[in-house]
Amino acid sequence: MSKKRIGIIGAGPSGLAQLRAFESARKKGEEIPEIVCFEKQSNWGGMWNYSWRTGVGKYGEPIHGSMYKYLWSNGPKECLEFSDYSFDEHFEKPISSYPPRPVLFDYIQGRIKRDNVRDYIRFDTTARWVSFDEKTKKFTLVLDDLKNDKTYSEEFDYLVVASGHFSTPNMPYFKGIENFPGNVIHAHDFRGADQFKDQELLLIGSSYSAEDIGVQCHKHGAKSVTLSYRTNPIGVKWPDGIEEMPLVTHFEEDIAHFKDGRTKRFDAVIMCTGYQHKFPFLPDEMRLKTKNNLYPDNLYKGIFFNDLPQLIYLGMQDQYYTFNMFDTQAWLARDYMLGKFELPDKRTRRGDINVWLQRNESLKDGHDHVDFQSDYIRDIIKLSDYPDFNIDKVAEMFKEWLNDKEENILTYRDKTYRSVVTGTMAAEHHTEWMDEMDDSKERYLFEPEEEESDDVKMNSTSL
Ligand code: FAD
Ligand code: NAP
Ligand code: MG
Repeated sequence: MSKKRIGIIGAGPSGLAQLRAFESARKKGEEIPEIVCFEKQSNWGGMWNYSWRTGVGKYGEPIHGSMYKYLWSNGPKECLEFSDYSFDEHFEKPISSYPPRPVLFDYIQGRIKRDNVRDYIRFDTTARWVSFDEKTKKFTLVLDDLKNDKTYSEEFDYLVVASGHFSTPNMPYFKGIENFPGNVIHAHDFRGADQFKDQELLLIGSSYSAEDIGVQCHKHGAKSVTLSYRTNPIGVKWPDGIEEMPLVTHFEEDIAHFKDGRTKRFDAVIMCTGYQHKFPFLPDEMRLKTKNNLYPDNLYKGIFFNDLPQLIYLGMQDQYYTFNMFDTQAWLARDYMLGKFELPDKRTRRGDINVWLQRNESLKDGHDHVDFQSDYIRDIIKLSDYPDFNIDKVAEMFKEWLNDKEENILTYRDKTYRSVVTGTMAAEHHTEWMDEMDDSKERYLFEPEEEESDDVKMNSTSL
């Protein structure tokens, strides 16, 4: 009998977790299926693979990346640490709790570079369309080899969708915005605060993008930042220069009108209004349809598409936990594909999904969200041999992080946490976050030499 074939769409943290899960089984002597991972970009890392481009890439594909210059982790790294590959193992010295993007990108690559995982990935290849044959129980995947401008198709027994869900903007309309004279962009196209120096900025939205882009622009010299919320304000203590207002009702040229009757003039608008789960390569009946949510419907154990469990989605939840959650999902998905984890019947699966959906409805605040996602991870980690980590402790750290942000949104990234994987206490970064304008790995890892004071210079020349 020929080997089973597994197709993975996307080589971001979720797709890479799937590859790593299979590698870990292979290293233990298990026979693994034939695996091909398709990545439309020229490199791996998904969101963490920064692109200066907006709009389309060199082959005309929509740009995936939503990250920007000066992006620092917005949660403690101790909350996302791989439990089979620690920060200590990678960096060989303690680092701070909130590293910048290039440092986390380096970490993600560490454990997969060891494993020759790259050989499984076909880069510059877009998954264009998927169909499923009820008789053969196989997927046909139509692929575009972008470099060679060739379309071809291949068959797979299992399909893992790891294409992310923070890439296609949700771009609402506000009356009169078409006549706004300045820049109007979505957070997806924001590439750094530099161009907004000295400007009066309006950010619409009240979640992570609004919070972080607002703070970044403040840090890098915007004249003022106004955040406009629809449902709830972010509600932290804002420094002078950042304020929250209710929702914009409409624009008149460069004047925004707000729900409470106030008005204000702006130079630019950034829509921090979230993203759409978008799967243009999947037919209707296989497409996950959901808002950004801690428990998308129709996914058993958060990953198996209930109508067709050979179709597996990774990382589709709203995320407190990230890399370690993708790992627990990928390990379980692997065991199912290896025939080591059996699924119950469809009705039983539906019952299990419903229990989570009901609980999700009752969550009230950030602490409830953390407990919910922690319980979800507890539920699935016990089903595979992904190394256990202290979920209680991580949940506690998440809650502390939420409190830290409320206390001071400009200094929370100076706090340090203890690793649950190695017990190591994070180092303090050599420079306070508000004073650190350089997010390069080199600057981060190697403390800059102290500049010699004039006295020292004079002494040394006079010697
Ligand atoms: P992605 O990282 O989005 O990767 C998906 C991959 O699939 C991409 O490489 C893409 O090119 C590929 N792909 C998509 N469609 C196709 C196709 N049709 N064919 C082939 N390939 C395809 N998380 C944190 O833990 N800490 C943070 O500080 C943090 N900051 C963030 C900041 C921003 C602005 C955003 C948007 C997200 C942030 N996240 C953060 C969350 C982030 O989404 C996850 O950390 C992680 O990148 C999700 O991994 P993923 O593999 O599921 O998706
Ligand atoms: P999000 O968490 O899904 O939030 C979307 C926001 O848009 C919500 O506040 C929502 O308000 C608002 N919104 C949606 N439609 C609207 C409308 N029509 N009018 C007004 N407001 C509207 O999306 P996100 O903030 O972009 O975050 C996405 C991911 O990126 C998260 O995982 C986050 O961690 C990550 N991120 C990380 C960093 C970092 O610093 N490392 C920075 C940015 C983003 P309602 O509450 O009313 O629905
Ligand atoms: Mg386990």
